Amino acid sequence: MKALTFHGKETIRYESIPDPEILFPTDAIVKVTLCAICGSDLHVYHEHEKGLDRGTAMGHEFVGEVVAVGKEVRAIRIGNQVMSPFTTNCGNCFYCNIGLTCRCIHGQLYGWREEEKGLHGGQAEYVRVPMADSTLMEIPDGVTTEEALFLGDILSTGFFCAKQAEIKPKSTYAVVGCGPVGLMAVLGAIEYGAEKVYAIDTVAERLDRAKQFGAIPINASAENTLEIIKVANEGRGADAVLEAVGNSSTNKLAYDLVRPGGIISAVGVCTDQHLAFSPTQAYDKNLTYKVGCCPARSMMNELVPMVQSKKHDFTSIITHRLSLSEGALGYDIFANKKDNCLKVMLKP
Ligand code: NAD
Ligand code: ZN
Repeated sequence: MKALTFHGKETIRYESIPDPEILFPTDAIVKVTLCAICGSDLHVYHEHEKGLDRGTAMGHEFVGEVVAVGKEVRAIRIGNQVMSPFTTNCGNCFYCNIGLTCRCIHGQLYGWREEEKGLHGGQAEYVRVPMADSTLMEIPDGVTTEEALFLGDILSTGFFCAKQAEIKPKSTYAVVGCGPVGLMAVLGAIEYGAEKVYAIDTVAERLDRAKQFGAIPINASAENTLEIIKVANEGRGADAVLEAVGNSSTNKLAYDLVRPGGIISAVGVCTDQHLAFSPTQAYDKNLTYKVGCCPARSMMNELVPMVQSKKHDFTSIITHRLSLSEGALGYDIFANKKDNCLKVMLKP
């Protein structure tokens, strides 16, 4: 089959790799009908995250049709149109039972293989899905293919970020980063009842998009973000900051913006060695810092009715629809924000 494979820093190839096969009786094989490039793929692309085997099929955002199932797969059937969270989960362990499916003791991240162990990704014609019954979900009626793909990662992650921020109507929120995840966090905060959401980025088009979604945009390279947020909340700072970038400067910004006793909800993947604020600084703000991977499989269950209601036009953020064979170009456009790129979809 053809796949987009990793070959070192900023080098993605469209090449042939062996077709995936059923390895365990609980596996399924999905024929990918649509996949996408995520901000998380860029950490690998730029080699900020190291260790990925060369030749690994990239990506973790995909939807498709089930074309084969192992002997023990019961709920998922050949022919089902399915969506998948970006990590696999067993549905039975302690973490799956408390809704933290991203910490499943048997879970794996698509598109991550180290020393030949791990899972190939979804930027491919086919993908092997372990623990198919608990990982996959049949795409429900009233959910489009593109919405289903978003549910597997960015939509769930943005809403998870907002959920962790414990949104209340009268409070003031700051979303740091207006990439796909930050924009979904804006919609999440609004969906959960926020009335005042500031959205911070340095890219004008992305800020415009945040404004369309109901946020008050702040261009961090032209405006005094801290001053604006403080003035907005009687000099205190934001009641919660939703961090959707993941570098030390936004980590520090989130700290500066949050009021004493407030929450930082961070979903941005920060590959630095240390946080940008000290234990004493955290202490001095009575800070609650919530950080980590989104339990997308749990969030999918929760969010399907809201997606079916068509209240928000999530997929309007898609700017590029390319074929899988144009994937290397897609990475370049997305990584370098060329051509006002916000979200790239790839069709095998
Ligand atoms: P993206 O790269 O498209 O978006 C990042 C945005 O941050 C861009 O719009 C960029 O202009 C903005 N930005 C960068 N530096 C900034 C600064 N100093 N001040 C203000 N804005 C700044 O990526 P994305 O797809 O939206 O993903 C965002 C982050 O979320 C990534 O780190 C990704 O790995 C992470 N992520 C985490 C999870 C999870 O489960 N926690 C899931 C998906 C993605
Ligand atoms: Zn992702």
